[in-house]
Amino acid sequence: MVDRERLLSSFLDLVRIDSPSGEEEPVAQEIARRLGALGADVLRDAHGNLIARLGARAGVAPFLLSAHMDTVEPGRGIRPMIEGDVIRTDGSTILGGDPKAGVAAILEALTVLREADTAHRPVELVFTRGEEVGLLGSRSLDYHMVTARQGVVLDGEGAISEITNEAPAQYIIDVDITGRAAHAGVEPERGVPAILIAAELIVELPQGRLDRETTANVGLISGGSARNAVPEQCSFKAEFRSRNPERLEAVRQEIDLHITSVAARHPAAKVDARIEKIFDGYKLAPSHPVLQQCAAALHSLGMEPRYLASGGATDANIFAGHGIEAAVLGMGGSNFHTTREQLSIANLVNSARFIEAVLRT
Ligand SMILES: [Zn+2]
Repeated sequence: MVDRERLLSSFLDLVRIDSPSGEEEPVAQEIARRLGALGADVLRDAHGNLIARLGARAGVAPFLLSAHMDTVEPGRGIRPMIEGDVIRTDGSTILGGDPKAGVAAILEALTVLREADTAHRPVELVFTRGEEVGLLGSRSLDYHMVTARQGVVLDGEGAISEITNEAPAQYIIDVDITGRAAHAGVEPERGVPAILIAAELIVELPQGRLDRETTANVGLISGGSARNAVPEQCSFKAEFRSRNPERLEAVRQEIDLHITSVAARHPAAKVDARIEKIFDGYKLAPSHPVLQQCAAALHSLGMEPRYLASGGATDANIFAGHGIEAAVLGMGGSNFHTTREQLSIANLVNSARFIEAVLRT
C-alpha cells in the first residue's frame, strides 16, 4: 500500500536537491541510487538521461514511465512548507513539484510493488534532462536503449486523472533578409530595404489561432543599423503548430509559397528562409490501449479520466517521433513555473496509487 508519510518525505528530499536545467546530475544520481536499491537495472546514456528496467520478462513489452529531472528557475535552495493538504514554498522559489511529484510517485509505486513481492508488468523508466529548455534530453536520448513502445509521461498540471492525449506538431521558421545599405537621405534609390521586405513577408503570414487545432506566431524580429541608413539586414523568427497533420502541412505549403512569391518580387534582395519541423504531435483516442489501461487503473481507484488537448509540447512529443506512444498525466500540482507553485498531498498519493494500479494490470 502507498505510504503517505514515506511518499511525502521522499518528495521533500527530492525537491531539496537543486536540479535546474543543465544541473541534473545530483538528482539523477539520487534517482539512480533509489532505483538500484529497488533492484532495477539502471543505465545512463551519453547525454546523462537515466534509463532503468524492472521486472523484465521475455516476450512481454515493458510499460514506459517517464518524467524529466530538471526544474525551471528560480529553483535553488527550495524550502518546501506544508499547510494542511498543500505543499508550497516560502514564495522565493518554485516548488519543483514539476517534475519531482512525478518522480516521487513513480519511486513510491515501485517501492510498494517491491514490498508486496507480487508480479507486475515489466516497466521501463526514462528520466530525462533539460526538458524545460527545449526538450533537450528526450531529443538526444539514446533510443537504442529504450524498448518500451507505450506508456505515460508524468508532466501535467492537475490530478493524475487529467490526461493530455493530444498535442501538436511544431514547425519553426527562421528568415534572414539581406538587402543593400545606402544613405537614407542622400541616395535611398541605391538601397534595398530589408525591413520593408520583412514587413511584406510578415503582414501576410498566418498568425494567431488559425483553427481549433492550429496556431501560428511571429515572435522575434531584429534588423537595421541606424535611423538614417536603408536597412541591409532584417531577421525574424516564427512558428506554427497544429494537432491536425494535414492542416499543419497545408499551412507549411501556404507559408512556403508566400515567402517564395515575396522573394520573387525583390530580386535585388536575398531572402533565406528555413522551415523546420522540430517536434511531432500525437493523438491517442480514448480507445487506444494506453488510455484504456489508464482508465481501468483510474476506475479501480474511483477516479474518472478527463482528456485534454494541449497546445504545448512535452517529452511525449519527442517520444512520438520515435514510435513511442505516450499520454501525459497530471502530477497533482498547479501554478507550475511560478513561485506560487503548489502540490496537493492527496493528489500525490493518488498518483502513486495510480502507477501501482497500472503496473499491476
Ligand atoms: Zn515539467
